[in-house]
Amino acid sequence: MSRDPLALAVLGHGLVDPRRPWLRADDEAVLRGRAAFETLRVYGGRPFRVAEHLDRLVRSAEVLELEAPDATGLAALVGEALAGLGGVDAVLRLVWTPGAGDGPTGFALVTPLQEGLDAMRARGIELATLQLAIGTTARQASPWLLAGVKSTSYAVNMAAQHEARKRGADDALFLSLEGIALECPTSNVWFVEEGVLHTPGLDLGILAGVTREALLAAAAEARMEVEQGAYPRRRLAAAAEVFTSSSVREVMPVVRIDGAAVGDGCPGPVAAAMQAALRRAAGA
Ligand code: PLP
Repeated sequence: MSRDPLALAVLGHGLVDPRRPWLRADDEAVLRGRAAFETLRVYGGRPFRVAEHLDRLVRSAEVLELEAPDATGLAALVGEALAGLGGVDAVLRLVWTPGAGDGPTGFALVTPLQEGLDAMRARGIELATLQLAIGTTARQASPWLLAGVKSTSYAVNMAAQHEARKRGADDALFLSLEGIALECPTSNVWFVEEGVLHTPGLDLGILAGVTREALLAAAAEARMEVEQGAYPRRRLAAAAEVFTSSSVREVMPVVRIDGAAVGDGCPGPVAAAMQAALRRAAGA
C-alpha cells in the first residue's frame, strides 16, 4: 500500500494537497521540535474520542507554552479531512505548531494504517526494557523533561524503538532508574497478576493515554479489579499477562520481555477481552 497521506486539512485553508508544503521552514516545530500533536485512530471513517484527544492537545500546548489550540477549528478540520474518504480505517494526526511569528499552524493529517497489526496482535510482541538514567521522583520534579506531554520531539522515543529492534524485540519499555516500569515509546503498559489488572499510575509522569482511559472504563464495566501504581520490572516479567495500549496499535499482547517468555509465552485472554471491549467502544 502507498504510504502517501490520504488527506490533509489545514486551518484557514481547508482540504489541501498533502504533497505540498504547508509549514514555514522557520516554524519552531521544524527547527526545534516544539509543537503539540495527537494521534488517533479512525474506525470505518469515524475518528475515536476526538474530544479527549483535543483536550490532551490543549494540555500539551499549555506545557509547551504555545498559543492555545483552536479546538473548535481543529474538530472541524477532522471532519473536513475525513469527508471524502468513506469508511476508511486510518490514522489521524492533529498537529499544532507555534508558527514563525505569523501565528500557529494547525492541521489534520490522515495516513493509512500500518499493515500487519492484527497479525502482530495474534502472535504477540516482545519488549526490550530500556532504563532511563533518571529516578521516578526526579522525573516528576522536572516538568521541563515534558514527561506525559505529546510534543513533536519524539526523536528519543523513535530512537528507543530502534534500539529495541536492534536487540531483537518489537518495542521498548522504559524503566526509571530504580527499575520501575513507566510506558513504551508510543503506548501504555499493563499486566495481570492473580486476576488483577495493573498499570503504571499517571503520577509517574507517563502519558495519560486515551486508550488507557477507555480500557480502565471497560475493566470497570467488566467488574475487573484494577490497580494503578509503581511496579518494578520483575512484577511484569513474572505476570500472567502483559499487554500495551495505544490508539494506533490498540491492545497488543506482550509475549516476551528481554528474551524471556511472559506467562505461557502466548497472547492471553485478558488482552483479548480488552481488545474486544475497545473495538466495541469504538463501534467497530
Ligand atoms: N505513551 C506514550 C509515550 C505515547 O506516545 C502514547 C501514544 O502515542 C501512549 C502512551 C498511548 O496513548 P493513546 O492511548 O492516547 O494513543
